Amino acid sequence: MSNRLSITDPRTQYPQPPFPRQPQPVPGKASKMEPTPDHGETSYQGSGKLKGRKALVTGGDSGIGRAAAIAYAREGADVAISYLPSEEADAQEVIQLIEAEGRTAVALPGDITDEKWCNELVTQAVGKLGGLDILVINAGRQQFREDLSQVTTEDFDKTLKTNLYALHWIAQAAVPHLPAGASVITTSSVQAYEPSAILLDYATTKAGMVAYTKALAKQLIKKGIRANVVAPGPFWTPLQSSGGQPPEAVSKFGSKSEFGRPGQPVEIAPVYVLLASQEGSYISGEVFGVTGGAGIA
Ligand code: NAD
Ligand code: MG
Repeated sequence: MSNRLSITDPRTQYPQPPFPRQPQPVPGKASKMEPTPDHGETSYQGSGKLKGRKALVTGGDSGIGRAAAIAYAREGADVAISYLPSEEADAQEVIQLIEAEGRTAVALPGDITDEKWCNELVTQAVGKLGGLDILVINAGRQQFREDLSQVTTEDFDKTLKTNLYALHWIAQAAVPHLPAGASVITTSSVQAYEPSAILLDYATTKAGMVAYTKALAKQLIKKGIRANVVAPGPFWTPLQSSGGQPPEAVSKFGSKSEFGRPGQPVEIAPVYVLLASQEGSYISGEVFGVTGGAGIA
C-alpha cells in the first residue's frame, strides 16, 4: 500500500467484498476490522500544504476522521482529535502517528451529545493548540432500524444530538476563535440525497448538515472563513460494522458501488486537505461527493 500513488485501476486497488462477518458493539473500533482499513498510516504522503495550521477533528480516532487527522499531520498541522472515552485505544494510535510527524497532538475524550462538553472540547483544543484554523465536524451516529416503528424517541434524540446539535454547539463555540483564512468542514453523506429506508433518522440529520453548513458558509465568508461539506458514499469504517448496517450488508459493503468495493478512508483524505488548505481559497458553500460513482444530486 506504500505505492498508493502509482497508476492503478482504482476498482482493484483496495479490498473488495465479500468481507468476513464482523458485528461489534457501538462505537466500533478500527482495530477490530477485517480487513484492516487504510487510514493512510503508511500510505499518505504529505507535501507541506498545512504547515503550521491548527486543526480540530471530531471522531478523529477512526475511519474518515482518522484519515483526515493523519493527512493533516503529514501536511504539517497540529491536530486535536475528539472521540468517545471507550475509543481510547484507537485514539492513542492516532496521537502517536501525529506526534511521529513532530506535530502537537491533543486528545479530547468525551461525549458530544453534551453541550457543556462541546464547549469545553473547543476551549481545550484552542488552548492546547494555541489557536484554531481548521474545524472538521465529522463525528457521527448511524444505527439502522428496519422499520419506522423501531426508531424510538431515544434513538431519534441520540442521532440528532450527535449529528446535528453537536455540529451547532461545536461550531458556535469555535467560530469566535477562527481567523480569516480558516476552514470549516462537515461530514455529511450520500444519504442526504439518496436516503436508505433503514436509515430514517440518520439520513435526516445528514440532509440537515448540508443545509446548516451552506447557511453557515454564507455567514462565515463575511469574516473570510470558508465552510464546506463532504458527502461520502460507502467507506470501510467501524461505523458500519457497529450497527450502521445489518451484519450481512457489511459482508457485501460497497458491492453496489460502481467500483464494486467500499472506499478506504485514505481515499477521501485529499478532499479534507484541499478544503482545509489555502489552495481551496475560492471553495465555500459547496458539497463534495466522494461516493464511488453514485454522484450526488
Ligand atoms: P467512525 O465510527 O470511524 O467515526 C465516527 C466517530 O464518531 C467515532 O469514532 C466516534 O469517535 C465519534 N462519535 C460518535 N458518537 C459520539 C459521541 N456521542 N461523542 C463523541 N464522539 C462520538 O466512522 P466513519 O464512517 O469514519 O464516520 C465519520 C463520519 O462519516 C460520520 O459523520 C458518518 O456519518 C460519515 N459517513 C460515513 C460513511 C461510511 O460509509 N463510513 C458514509 C457517509 C458518511
Ligand atoms: Mg471510532
